[in-house]
Amino acid sequence: DRLVGAVADSDDQAVEAALRPRDLDEFVGQERVREQLGLVLQAARKRGGTADHVLLSGAPGLGKTTLSMIIAAEMGVPIRITSGPAIQHAGDLASILSSLTEGEVLFLDEIHRMSRPAEEMLYMAMEDFRVDVIVGKGPGATAIPLELPPFTLVGATTRAGLLPPPLRDRFGFTGHMEFYAPAELERVIHRSAGLLDVVVDAAGAAEIAGRSRGTPRIANRLLRRVRDYAQVRADGTITRQTAAAALEVYEVDARGLDRLDRAVLHALLTLFGGGPVGLSTLAVAVGEERETVEEVAEPFLVREGLLARTPRGRVATGAAWAHLGLAPPHPTGG
Ligand code: ADP
Repeated sequence: DRLVGAVADSDDQAVEAALRPRDLDEFVGQERVREQLGLVLQAARKRGGTADHVLLSGAPGLGKTTLSMIIAAEMGVPIRITSGPAIQHAGDLASILSSLTEGEVLFLDEIHRMSRPAEEMLYMAMEDFRVDVIVGKGPGATAIPLELPPFTLVGATTRAGLLPPPLRDRFGFTGHMEFYAPAELERVIHRSAGLLDVVVDAAGAAEIAGRSRGTPRIANRLLRRVRDYAQVRADGTITRQTAAAALEVYEVDARGLDRLDRAVLHALLTLFGGGPVGLSTLAVAVGEERETVEEVAEPFLVREGLLARTPRGRVATGAAWAHLGLAPPHPTGG
């Protein structure tokens, strides 16, 4: 469990329900998605029908689950939440679909990780509100058609490009969720602080926002750790100073890098002169698995423009030297 990891841990799950915005107006940022989705929902309400299927793409922690709940709330219908990996067999999907009530929202997280047969069943369900349930095996097997009530599927995926085109095409609306700007994260932090009954001043919120990697889930998690610190070591108020001191304790630096991120950069700079160096060599140097470096540390370092993946290996940018306060041995690009 990393403090700056974007996937929810059990601690997050316990508090997130209380922090979720309940309607589109309360949902911070994502102006384009909010406006487009607002129109889709308003039009559906006006027609007195069910909203089109919605695909939400974006990194973990950006608010996809929250938006799906808002869709259900705005349409005044219940919501069922499940995920691609939880649906092993087409039969699992058939039983979920056949138990939906009219207009219900079905939220399918990680929809790109559904099994192939389930995916094919979903095509027909999305288009015709019908599934064929196969009874029996071999030549005697028969398909029994089952009518479904109209429902709204909200699919979530880290990248829309991961979906097979026939599935992607069956969504009436696709919303691309972006990482949040610092000012938007500050609004998330102020809002959450109010709900958690913590006092945070403007500079304190800005300090936490700058370390939150563009992700509301991380902002909320850092806020809780800073609150602990402020209550134990200060008077409970979160200022720039308490936020910075608390996050230093938790080894999250001013730009949101944690110990692992910095170890990777540090090795790249000090042991390999900024690269290029192969991934395996870099991983051995920091005592981690290749996959950990590649999947856990690198994506954020690349996003931040601190590290580049080139055909010759990993290369640090000028910004990496500056961030760790080191002088490059020779002029670097970037
Ligand atoms: P995802 O499903 O994309 O992983 P979630 O919807 O579970 O993300 O959001 C994670 C947490 O971040 C939730 O607790 C939610 O309160 C908060 N959050 C996400 N987006 C927003 C937003 N736009 N405004 C306020 N809080 C948000």
